Amino acid sequence: MSLKIQNSISGTKEVFQPIHEGRIGMYVCGPTVYSDVHIGNCRTFVSFDIIYRYLMYLGYKVRYVRNITDVGHLEGDADSNAEDKISKKARLEQIEPMEIVQRYSNGFHDIMRRFNTLEPSIEPRATGHILEQIEMVEEIIKRGYGYEANGSVYFDTNKLIQEADIYGKLSGRKVEDLLVETRDLKNQGEKRHPSDFAIWIKADERHLLRWNAPWSDGFPGWHLECSVMSTKYLGERFDIHGGGNDLKFPHHENEIAQNYGACGNTPANYWIHSNMLLLNGKKMSKSDGNNITPTELFTGDSDHISKAYSPMVLRFFFLQAHYGSTLDLNDTSLQAAEKGYQRLMEAYKTLLELSSANPKSDSPVAIEIEQTIQAAVEEMNDDFNTPKALARLFELIPTINKLSDGQLNVDDAGQYALDLAKKGFEDLLFVVFGLKKETEDHNGHMDQLDGLMKLVIDMRQQARENKDWPTSDKIRDTLNEIKIDLKDGKDGTSWALKA
Ligand code: AMP
Ligand code: ZN
Repeated sequence: MSLKIQNSISGTKEVFQPIHEGRIGMYVCGPTVYSDVHIGNCRTFVSFDIIYRYLMYLGYKVRYVRNITDVGHLEGDADSNAEDKISKKARLEQIEPMEIVQRYSNGFHDIMRRFNTLEPSIEPRATGHILEQIEMVEEIIKRGYGYEANGSVYFDTNKLIQEADIYGKLSGRKVEDLLVETRDLKNQGEKRHPSDFAIWIKADERHLLRWNAPWSDGFPGWHLECSVMSTKYLGERFDIHGGGNDLKFPHHENEIAQNYGACGNTPANYWIHSNMLLLNGKKMSKSDGNNITPTELFTGDSDHISKAYSPMVLRFFFLQAHYGSTLDLNDTSLQAAEKGYQRLMEAYKTLLELSSANPKSDSPVAIEIEQTIQAAVEEMNDDFNTPKALARLFELIPTINKLSDGQLNVDDAGQYALDLAKKGFEDLLFVVFGLKKETEDHNGHMDQLDGLMKLVIDMRQQARENKDWPTSDKIRDTLNEIKIDLKDGKDGTSWALKA
């Protein structure tokens, strides 16, 4: 039984073989910290957290590098004078770019903690690696894959295409299409070819983030930071590179090109791409309002949902889909996830209450439990298939309930069977899936609060039926004072914490 990974570069599921036995180097593209993370970003980072956790569960020593992008990510193409996202936000708010970076990095870390994701081993920032980026640009030029034009430096994609059959492989784009792809770009004249991309960008007067380099006072292209920071911390060739699948082109394709240009080889053996989170069947987008933040989900303060959902319910919701499939977030599926999460945690609680004086290890129940847990692990070995692994755990719930209500005799099953089930649940639920009991959430107690609010809503309903308006108004007003909103809808009254 060995781990198989769907490798985006070959398009096939491959048996995983690390470069160095027992150790894994994994690089995942992190957030661009110019605004709050949206729940789609969170899905991607939770997916890689589960992959990281599972690799460690298998016994590997993993160095997990996830960067922070704090310079170079433009709102469009470098050659159309598009503005850097962080520099623009700082300009508009009239504060230091590093204040923007600090604010949204803090916000990102807070949200990641609420989702119970593990911290990466190294979290390097692009602005902390400018020297290394300048050195890589120099190396790319020296090896003939880059050229300077008017203070900016471009990667010569045409040269790469002539010399190696790698450009376009990851994203499945045809080289001919890449070569003829033209856009009406302002500085098109600087580039030898439309598919060439900037690796060093001369800063215009607006640009707040700039460094002195041999070609100009400027800043590095976005793709360059990941080539530099991955090779710096993991070596020129490492095991796994991940990110959302919207990064395949141009970001990852260009990263591969840069690594080849600077080091003569492609960086990672396995490329893992997670799929997009949709909202009500459509791609999440800030501009058309089809967007929801983690905080809105945790408080219930959004028109897209009828109530608050806790971080662990959302984590469970993510687990119910394979990382490589799209996942649609809507109120109905979140309610189902909440029920599923509670059912699983309830089964674990029931399991903890069971004990037996019989130590025997070969009872039919013990065999059933052992095989089912083993099957769940095998599902994880099949390209981290969390929905199928979860389904295996659900298969054990009827047995746990029968042991609890006496339909199955606990002493016939034996303590060994109970211990196996507990260990299996704990390993998978807590260690690998990263779930935790909601009451452990320091911001949480959501289930108690939800129960309390149901009681308050019932009492208000009773007061209204009795036409006791002073009491019903008092309930609403007092809740309002403590920042709890009541929403009266056709399906009854729901509540939300005000953000
Ligand atoms: P960004 O901060 O825009 O660089 O994105 C950070 C990560 O979130 C990248 O790996 C993106 O691929 C990923 N991402 C962006 N939008 C979504 C989405 N709707 N669903 C899942 N992942 C996303
Ligand atoms: Zn990247």
